[in-house]
Amino acid sequence: MSGPAVFKFGGTSLGDAERIGDVAALIADVEAPPVVVVSAPAGLTETLVEIAQEGPRPGGISDSAGDGTTLAREALERMPRDLARRVGGEALQDEVARLVLDRLEAFDRHTPGDESARDDLLAVGEDVAVRLLKAALDRRGIRAAVVDARVVVRTDDGFGSAAPDIDAIHATTRAHLLPLVSSGTVPVVQGFVGGTADGRTTTLGRGGSDLSATLIGAALSSSAVHIWTDVDGILTGDPRWVDRPRSLDVVGFEEAVELAWFGARVLHAGAAKHAVAHRLPVRIRSTFAPERPGTLILAERWGGPDIAAVACKRSVALIQVRSRPSAIEYGFLAEVFGTLAELRTPVDLVATSHTSTAFTIDENADLRALGDALDRVAEVEVRRGLSTVTVVGRGLLREPGFAARVFQTVAFTSVHLISQATDSSLSFLVDDAEAERLVRRLHLVLIEGRGARQQPQGDDRDSVEGAV
Ligand code: ASP
Ligand code: MG
Repeated sequence: MSGPAVFKFGGTSLGDAERIGDVAALIADVEAPPVVVVSAPAGLTETLVEIAQEGPRPGGISDSAGDGTTLAREALERMPRDLARRVGGEALQDEVARLVLDRLEAFDRHTPGDESARDDLLAVGEDVAVRLLKAALDRRGIRAAVVDARVVVRTDDGFGSAAPDIDAIHATTRAHLLPLVSSGTVPVVQGFVGGTADGRTTTLGRGGSDLSATLIGAALSSSAVHIWTDVDGILTGDPRWVDRPRSLDVVGFEEAVELAWFGARVLHAGAAKHAVAHRLPVRIRSTFAPERPGTLILAERWGGPDIAAVACKRSVALIQVRSRPSAIEYGFLAEVFGTLAELRTPVDLVATSHTSTAFTIDENADLRALGDALDRVAEVEVRRGLSTVTVVGRGLLREPGFAARVFQTVAFTSVHLISQATDSSLSFLVDDAEAERLVRRLHLVLIEGRGARQQPQGDDRDSVEGAV
């Protein structure tokens, strides 16, 4: 039998008092109590990251002399407190204000070697969120209990992007959440936050609340994880760029992982992978339109080959490595990828020939450290300012016509690298400046269903003529 559904609410769904009330109403409408996972209210984590970057300032937030108070600190003092007052009145305002101040003070006084200090500070966004939602549920007469993610979501001590301990989470989640659910109480848990076995706070990396939701969902054998966000599911293309994006009804697991990884921002890639590994259905839906079904991510997507979406990932760097003539003849690739693994740098696309290999990574990775490390075995060239544009679908290799249409459409763009490792994605690496145009054209041709029969000219390059 399947366990309770998990509902995860993102920052925009908790961005103001009214929306928090809507979320409580939405939970009240569900017959069987779900397990609820929340992100920090929109903008709060960003503010906390800024404060962490500025570093500790003894003198701190309440220092009226002005030394130590920054814009981010002012925002941190104001935003959660105002939200709390509007959601739960004076008492909640005081509780939240105290929580935030205490945490900031602890950060300002932490000893330099204390690795968990930063995560302790970042976690306050979600610590506030669970209190706000609990108060809103109380108001509606819904029985709810805050369950601390530090206890439930056990991780290693990789502070900042800790790795979950799946076995421990299986046990803690079941022990702490199931009794509540069976007694008709809604457990409310912080997303993004975890804890080590010895009780120190960790975080799962930016956007990690989705991962929290799928970790808990898998541990409970949930019927489904519902990711409640501000869009109607996974779209066929970025609405800022394409004219007629559609929301997809169903997406296969593999497509979802490719989409999450290559730029559809609605689902954290790690969360998608975890759901896939546990065959856990995920539904992405909008708190602004809860009556709509959104997108269902399922193990099997029925039907023939089909293109689902065009995604784009910005700020990508291309690394080209050429083995030195003197270098080892065997194991060159092992050496290159071993170096990447040591530096914990994830790779997106790879293309390789006998003597050289090219791959892409996030432009914000430590490119210098990587260059220095690879320099031992290879000549290294780095190019920044690139984007990957990825066509995601099913059976892309099975249906030769697809590739032909895709390549025809891409033919007018200069491409640095092409990669197709699976049946469900085909990626092109282009200059940042070319990305939007290419996404628009691919969406127009492949999804809005118009053919690219003529070479587009001049300013007209976006409006592909020759409708089929
Ligand atoms: N609040 C965290 C962040 O902004 C986690 C999340 O939203 O998923 O990254
Ligand atoms: Mg998110």
